[in-house]
Amino acid sequence: VRAAIGIDVGGTKLLACAVDERGRVLSEAYEASPQHRDGLIDALETVTIAVLADLSDAVELIGVGLGLPGLVDRDGVLHETANLHAIDETTIAAELEPRVLAACESTLRVEGRPSIIAENDATCAAAGELAFGEASGIPDAAVITLGTGIGGGLIADGRIVFGGQGFAGEVGHMVVVADGEPCGCGGRGCWEQYASGSAIARFAREAIAAGGLAGVVGEDGTVRAEHVVAAARAGDREAVALLDTASRYLAIGLSNLAEILDPTVFVISGGLSDAEDVFLTPAIAHFGAQRRGAGPRAVEVRRASLGSRAGAIGAGALAFGLLR
Ligand SMILES: [Zn+2]
Repeated sequence: VRAAIGIDVGGTKLLACAVDERGRVLSEAYEASPQHRDGLIDALETVTIAVLADLSDAVELIGVGLGLPGLVDRDGVLHETANLHAIDETTIAAELEPRVLAACESTLRVEGRPSIIAENDATCAAAGELAFGEASGIPDAAVITLGTGIGGGLIADGRIVFGGQGFAGEVGHMVVVADGEPCGCGGRGCWEQYASGSAIARFAREAIAAGGLAGVVGEDGTVRAEHVVAAARAGDREAVALLDTASRYLAIGLSNLAEILDPTVFVISGGLSDAEDVFLTPAIAHFGAQRRGAGPRAVEVRRASLGSRAGAIGAGALAFGLLR
C-alpha cells in the first residue's frame, strides 16, 4: 500500500492521519501541542512513529505533510503564527526530515524515502475537501474554514492556488469594513473580525455589556460562539439577530470571492459550519439576495464533509503531490 502521513498542527493538539491515495484513513494518532520549538519537533516525531506503528499492512511511505497555523512560504518556512509564537520563522519540515527517515528505517513494515512538505493549515483543510471531500472533482471552487478566524483554500483549473510567495487564500483578511475592528494581522475591518467564531463571541460580549443577551454565558463564565448558537436554537431573538448580522457579513465576503474567482462551489468547513440552521442557512439566503443580479453565474454553497480530520487528510493529499 502507498501511504502518506498528514499532520494537522493545531493550537491545542496535533492530529496525524496515515491516508492512502483515495483519502482513506489507515491509522491516526494525537499528541498535545507543545508551546516551544524543540518540543514541537519531538511531538511531531512521536505522533509520526505512533501513526506508523498502527498501520495494519506494510506500506511504502510517499511523504509527510504538515499543516501549520500561520503563513507558510514556498520554501516551507513558517511566518506569523497566531497560536504558536515560539515556532515562528522555523523550517520545521527540514528539521523533521532526518527523524522521520530514522523512524521509517526502524519500522520494518515501512519502506520508502518520504519527502516532507509544509503548508498553511487552512490550505491543507481545503486540499482535503478538494481531493477527497465535498469539492472533489470540481475544478473551480473555494473552501472557507470558519473557526476562531477565517481560513481559505482556492482551487482554479483543478489546482490549488498558492500565489507568488505561497500566501494565497488568506481570505479572512479581506477588508469588509473601512476603518473597522482591529485584527491580529495588524489591519482593520478584516472579514474574520465580522463572520468568524471569535467575531460572534465579540458581538455577544458587546450586547451583554449593553444589557442584552442575558442567557448567553457558558458555565465557566466565558462567552463563545457556541453559546450564541445554542441560545438562537432555543429561540432567543437577540441571539438569532446577532447571528443574522454575522451571516450577512459572511455573505458579503462570499460575494466578493464569487466576483473574483467565479467558482462553481463554495465549501464551508470549520466548527461554525455545524450551525447550519441558525448561521449557514441565513448566510446562504443573504448571499443569494446579494447575487440576484448575477444571472446564470450561480454558486452552490455546501457544508464540508471531512469534519475535523480535513486538515490532516489534506496535508496527506498534498504530500502525495495531489492538486499541484
Ligand atoms: Zn486581518
